[in-house]
Amino acid sequence: QVVNYAPFTLLPSAVPRALFEQAYAVQQDFNLLVDAVSQNKEFLERTLASTIKVDNFTARLFRIYMQVLEEGVAQTVFLGINRSDYMFDCGLDGTAALRQIEINTIAASFGGLTSRTADVHRLVLKVLGKTEEAARLLPNNPAKGLALGIAKAWELYGSQSAVVMFLVEEVQRNIFDQRCVENELWNRNIRVLRKRFRDVSEQGSLDASRRLYVDGQEVAVVYYREGYVPQVYDQQNWEARLLLERSRAVKCPDIATQLAGTKKVQQELSRPGTLEELLPGHPEAIARIRATFAGLYSLDQGEEGDRIAATAIADPDRFVLKPQREGGGNNLYGEELREVLEKIKDSPERTSYILMDKIKPQPALNYLLRAHSPLRVSECISELGIFGVYVRQGRELVLNQAAGHLLRTKATEHADGGVAAGVAVLDTPYLV
Ligand code: ADP
Ligand code: MG
Repeated sequence: QVVNYAPFTLLPSAVPRALFEQAYAVQQDFNLLVDAVSQNKEFLERTLASTIKVDNFTARLFRIYMQVLEEGVAQTVFLGINRSDYMFDCGLDGTAALRQIEINTIAASFGGLTSRTADVHRLVLKVLGKTEEAARLLPNNPAKGLALGIAKAWELYGSQSAVVMFLVEEVQRNIFDQRCVENELWNRNIRVLRKRFRDVSEQGSLDASRRLYVDGQEVAVVYYREGYVPQVYDQQNWEARLLLERSRAVKCPDIATQLAGTKKVQQELSRPGTLEELLPGHPEAIARIRATFAGLYSLDQGEEGDRIAATAIADPDRFVLKPQREGGGNNLYGEELREVLEKIKDSPERTSYILMDKIKPQPALNYLLRAHSPLRVSECISELGIFGVYVRQGRELVLNQAAGHLLRTKATEHADGGVAAGVAVLDTPYLV
């Protein structure tokens, strides 16, 4: 085993207080929205219709979704853990605006490790003689907040002897992040198993009422920390995924909620009228949600798509081109965006992407500390994530909360990529 420290900034980064508070204030609305999308078959079908024609991975997920619906959903308790990510867009007049980058509805990570970063930065500031500044860093404990949601779902499942199963990667590169959440569950006397898809296919089964058993133990909650990239799925793992989705166990997320987190859905949500359709009777939530949207554009076949494709080819630095992928490092920028779009602009392949306005934050200097990397000052930008957790029993939302925050910072020389991709590092907001 090889162990490295998690990468982090030497100093906390300045974050405008008003935008930080805005991000927290809209989180329950986003929870509500994701949950509503996940329950709206007609919307998911319509929205993803063009995508699944050309994107095999989304198509495969969608097929499982339909299969589970046809059989009848056995699960009655639903648990969502998401993270809504934002950047601070710097306007021409120098004022910053909160702009959502995306919402992660599966395997949203770093809630565990970031429960420790404020302590690190508090110490650094004290060493520098900045005691007052150190005292201003906010407490932050997403690990506890996420565990609270998992524990609630476990309790509502209603079997004392059932366990929580973390579905983890084949090669575990972020185990300590997960352990922080796991330990919170053990503290509540809830048993936790760590299993891979492969283990599920070898040791998993359903009984007549579709209760899930793995390695002889009944599973109340499946918490996916894996399963969002196509590369992990061979035929056997697809079958394991289907088994899990068919089961009565609470999946975090269920397959509908994973689909609700696709970039295509995000783009459709920004269309005038869509939020009103999905959240009738919630005009204030809709206004808060919409205020965080950046420009998002469909590349579906037709006049609208032709027009925006031509605009992006003419001025690629205004946009980001995004495929239906998660995990960082998949988006295209600048010249590369132009080349790819030029190549696919007349083919159906175009519809597997969306276009988004490029957010341009004001850079600041910091030191990025990463194992085995030289230490030097970098020009950096930050991305703020707010964790959301909710639990629904049948049609009733019994828990809906913001569960803490994550600040990730990267050097401006990298257009894309998160902490796992080796680009961004953990940070702590210093509110200004
Ligand atoms: P992924 O699902 O791969 O995490 P994201 O949409 O979060 O995809 O994009 C990955 C990274 O690319 C982000 O963390 C951010 O650094 C950068 N990025 C994404 N969208 C934009 C945008 N509209 N403007 C500027 N940077 C962006
Ligand atoms: Mg992301």
